[in-house]
Amino acid sequence: MNCVGEGRGGTSTSDHHKDKQDVLCSPVCEPATGGDEVAVICDTSQRLCVACCSHESPEVCKTEGCMPHEAVKTRISVRNICCDAEVRLIDRILKPMKGVEDVKTNALTKLVMVTHCPVDCCASVEHLVDSLNAAHLGATLLSKGEDSAAAARPSATELAKEHAKWLHAGVVWALFIAGTALYQHEGAADITFIVACALGSVPILQKAVRAGRKLRIDMSVLMMLAVGGALGSGEYLEAALVVALFLSAELIEHAAMNRVTRALSTVMQLSVTRTATRAKDGKTVPIGELVVGDVVSLRPGEESPIDGRVRAGFGSVSEASMTGEAIPIEKRTGSTIIAGSVMLNGFLEVELTALTKDSTIEKIKEQVEEAQAQKGRAQVLVDTFAKFWTPTILIAVGVMVGIVPFATKSDAMPWLEKALVLLVLACPCALVLAAPIPTTCTIAAAARNGVLIKRAEVVEQLASVSAVALDKTGTLTKGEFAVVCAEDLSENGTQVEATLKLAAAIESKSAHPVAAAVVSRAVGCAADAYETGGLPQAKKFRNLEGVGVRGEVDVGGGVFKPVVAGNKKALGVAGAPTRDVERFETFQAARLGDTTLCVVVDGRLCLGIALNDTLRPDARRAVDLIRSMGCSVAMLTGDAEAAARQVAGALDLSDYQFSLLPQDKHAWVQLKEKGGARTLMLGDGINDANALAAATVGIAMGETSMALAARTADIVIMSSWLSRLPQAMQLCRYARRLVAFNIVFAAGVKLVAVVLALLGKLHLWMAVLVDVGSLVIVLLVGASVLGSTTLNNQGQEESLVKHTSKKEKGSEEV
Ligand code: ADP
Ligand code: MG
Repeated sequence: MNCVGEGRGGTSTSDHHKDKQDVLCSPVCEPATGGDEVAVICDTSQRLCVACCSHESPEVCKTEGCMPHEAVKTRISVRNICCDAEVRLIDRILKPMKGVEDVKTNALTKLVMVTHCPVDCCASVEHLVDSLNAAHLGATLLSKGEDSAAAARPSATELAKEHAKWLHAGVVWALFIAGTALYQHEGAADITFIVACALGSVPILQKAVRAGRKLRIDMSVLMMLAVGGALGSGEYLEAALVVALFLSAELIEHAAMNRVTRALSTVMQLSVTRTATRAKDGKTVPIGELVVGDVVSLRPGEESPIDGRVRAGFGSVSEASMTGEAIPIEKRTGSTIIAGSVMLNGFLEVELTALTKDSTIEKIKEQVEEAQAQKGRAQVLVDTFAKFWTPTILIAVGVMVGIVPFATKSDAMPWLEKALVLLVLACPCALVLAAPIPTTCTIAAAARNGVLIKRAEVVEQLASVSAVALDKTGTLTKGEFAVVCAEDLSENGTQVEATLKLAAAIESKSAHPVAAAVVSRAVGCAADAYETGGLPQAKKFRNLEGVGVRGEVDVGGGVFKPVVAGNKKALGVAGAPTRDVERFETFQAARLGDTTLCVVVDGRLCLGIALNDTLRPDARRAVDLIRSMGCSVAMLTGDAEAAARQVAGALDLSDYQFSLLPQDKHAWVQLKEKGGARTLMLGDGINDANALAAATVGIAMGETSMALAARTADIVIMSSWLSRLPQAMQLCRYARRLVAFNIVFAAGVKLVAVVLALLGKLHLWMAVLVDVGSLVIVLLVGASVLGSTTLNNQGQEESLVKHTSKKEKGSEEV
């Protein structure tokens, strides 16, 4: 049953889920679609269910008064955004609408993201689009995954209109030049200037009237006031020059903005494939190939790519992506699983019940778009300043024209001239775009290179990091283990191969990198094992974070015995005697540098397994780069001391912590944060999620970076190149410098211009030039991030591979 929270304004999806249990429903209407999606109305306390409004009789929700009981996100491409004025206009149109919870706009990508209740009696999608178009904003609804920048690309008629605008500006300039050529014939020159003004003002006036009708003051209104004032005071030449300049300025701004938008859209062509493990053959298949009825297997740390029903198994999942609450929810045969649920513990086989159209790539794109539409700290500050700028200037203009000449009994004309110049300077366009342009471009450039920055403020945070913590397995190393040896460590002798299979039976349900190595050593690939029935049956699987795995395995004849596989701590978990611990320590001492595992069957140590992993080829370079940026680097690992020392030695790292449990990594990060450092935690797996969340910036690493880690992280590096980290740090530092430059530049130019205007040293036409000039410079400076070579060094990486692959033979193994 789809019964959700109270019908109060602004209820978010997570609130609905929180209220799930408390809502008392009494069925009123008939099921709308059948099945268990029953449409009910909770008439006792005016609580509505989602299904009501999609019910065939929408009167139900109308009579109850339409409440925002559902929140969806809709993406709208808005072609005619050219600067912050339109962003504010969009806010003014959409935000007051009933049912609209949140509006985020990105001027560069020309994308508006609205969180709203889509039912007809609230803010329907059509209503949103129509309202934007009523203000001539050129809005179109984007379907899932559709590229906003591509959708914002002008059509043929719009291109023709654009050309006509350039022609129009050309004619106005020609008239202006003709007027100046006629300077000897004053009358003729003035008439030419007035004609130029009249012709040039048509589109500006149209816009000004539209804005005026909505009681909005924008650049066109200010410009018309200034031109009117100039004409009124007989400054025909200046008025014509201002109109011609303004027309060209708008076109140049538009062209510069479109260029950046186009560059952004090419940068954003991401490609990532999304796969699932098909249960019947253990094969990894793209989710696009799955059909309803297919069964996929889910292991801890993995995210369900599909909506489905549990066919076999038991475990707990986190539905945090839907509810915002990372609490484990138990799932057993028959339970439903929603796409995006993350497996925390256990093992599940899930049958696909509905096709998921949302591929990861779409989610990533959405996430990037969302991050781009958010505001960083710098921008929030600037926006607050900008909010006061225009009104302050307008008040100053009012005082200069209405009060000063009378109070000082001086000539009104010079004051009027100064006031007109101030009017032109009243639009804070360049300042408002100073921060978002570098940030938006950084997020896009990073995403293009496999670094997914999830929030705009993370760009600022990454630039400020001073202490970097790196996880070992799967982060500094490739996480591609190979078993070097499996040794009988039992007291009474055990069959190595048979015991390995017992361990593999539980490891096959774990997603840790060592698990795959144990399984392939025991039975070859998982698919072979499935076909030959090579692995004994296992039940009661549990993941022991930072320790290993535990379960009960069929040791023959249907007898199940407890089996634990993991590091030294696993012996404690299994309750093995001290003698066993000593034997395992001797085994470890003989295998210095290898990752060692023990297999404990029925509380007694049976096997010692030694595995080795390979350092990522660019690990050393990445660590050196981070250090050269003035950050401290530490390695945090759950692995044993010897293995940790080996890697630390190869990387010349003196600060390394070993045998850490997830909570120890978390505590380390917290300690550093308390000490005033801004920390960055880079990890790969389920064992790092807490530390990732506690760090100023949490980054999940690796093409296979597990869903849980990726969800908690602020950044996901979807590449296997560790150098992406220092590169992303450099990029963000560069962006921070650009933001600072842009803000200082835009604000400085504006302030100097205002002072000059007050001193009477700035002419109207100069003010227009200052305005457009600073905006174009801010745009170009900000967009220079896209051309930055920081992340575009594929060539270097390839040569690095060639270089290290020679060395790797033997020497790089750790
Ligand atoms: P790291 O911090 O280096 O990434 P983890 O925290 O993921 O390492 O794991 C720590 C240790 O726990 C591993 O080195 C391994 O000994 C043990 N371990 C974790 N998961 C498993 C597993 N599925 N099977 C066996 N041992 C495991
Ligand atoms: Mg790890």
